Amino acid sequence: MSDHNCPENTHWTLNLQHFGNTNIKYLEVSGACAVCGRKVEFRGPMGVSPEHPTASAIDGSEACLPFLFAGEIYDGKGVGYSVSVRGGN
Ligand SMILES: [Zn+2]
Repeated sequence: MSDHNCPENTHWTLNLQHFGNTNIKYLEVSGACAVCGRKVEFRGPMGVSPEHPTASAIDGSEACLPFLFAGEIYDGKGVGYSVSVRGGN
């Protein structure tokens, strides 16, 4: 565990992604403490979906937020998947 309050000094990284035959774009967000390097772990369904935000399936260290610009209409077939994980402690 850390000896300081990580959320007060978090370094965020934003990355724009586009994949599949669709105009949906994805903003990928990751974050880590600027002091100790501890990664943010996002919660939520895991995977990638054009329908809703997800967390990366690998370790949850990346949030994937699908979006369109104002006025754009969802075009094409979305690709991706998501998995909900329930249970655990
Ligand atoms: Zn820290």
